Amino acid sequence: MKKKKKLGAVEALQKAKGSPTVAARLMGIPRTTFYSRLSGEIVDNPDWRKRRKMIPKDLSAITSAVRAGLPTKTERERLGDFKILMLDIETSPHKGWFWKLHDENISINQLIDSSRPLCFAAKYYGADKSDVRFHAEWIDGQKNMLRAAHDLLSEADAVITQNGERFDFPVLNWYFLKNNMSPPRPYKSIDLIKTTRSRFRGASTKLDYVARELGYKGKIEHEGFPLWEKVMAGDPAAQERFQDYNIGDTLLLEPIYRRYRPWIRNHPNVAAFNGLDEPACPTCGSVNLQADSWTLLQTTRRAQYTCKDCGTFLRERNEKDMLPRTRVVF
Ligand SMILES: [Zn+2]
Repeated sequence: MKKKKKLGAVEALQKAKGSPTVAARLMGIPRTTFYSRLSGEIVDNPDWRKRRKMIPKDLSAITSAVRAGLPTKTERERLGDFKILMLDIETSPHKGWFWKLHDENISINQLIDSSRPLCFAAKYYGADKSDVRFHAEWIDGQKNMLRAAHDLLSEADAVITQNGERFDFPVLNWYFLKNNMSPPRPYKSIDLIKTTRSRFRGASTKLDYVARELGYKGKIEHEGFPLWEKVMAGDPAAQERFQDYNIGDTLLLEPIYRRYRPWIRNHPNVAAFNGLDEPACPTCGSVNLQADSWTLLQTTRRAQYTCKDCGTFLRERNEKDMLPRTRVVF
């Protein structure tokens, strides 16, 4: 009697229309074993170019992430203890004497008052809108406001900002230093402007522009510079408008971050502490993966997957795949 041909991982995947869970069931093996078989078949096979074509390509992850604006309950649960903070600060302008309206270099001795943080708004990604934190010089006093920022930064695993690496973080750090505070506990930065600059080329890298182009409401309108004047003069109505504006900016980070996720380079690995022994998406923690052929490394190929929940591409990290296969000559 002729022995029945064993189903290969790539074939199983094709039958399962790309779903690793169904494919593993078809082969009668656990999902983790399936992943390593697939990885072996894809990386080892001399016919890999043909095999890549055989793997169904699915763009639904990207479209479903694109459709919705705010993180779902499941998404929040997947993050577990991984805390992603969204933060935005507002500062006062420099104040000084100057001679000309254009092209003037203002020296330090012309400076009366230098820029300082006035307030900040922060919220954990996925937390309820009512959980937004707002601290201001006129509410808490400068030192307590800085302490609140220091505490939040120290508690966060990652911090989402718009231009935080060049602005918000160094401004806060300078004031931490001036107030004899130690550095906040290290956190990973997710600066959205870096993704805007490096992955896209729209007309502007401003948050307001990006938000509107992606179909969200932009920043809250305000009267411009006179608002700062009124806020610093202690006008309570202006301070309230300023608060709304600051909170609005912070909340705007959330849907944009969510849309940006699969494009963000060096995203911190949120699955690092999930305790699962199967591959999970480093960006959103989902185990709902779609096998997607391979990715090229410097000297070898590795099995590649897409996250069906956020659209991130991820690759097999198994070191054992590195050894004999590094000798593949293309
Ligand atoms: Zn994901």
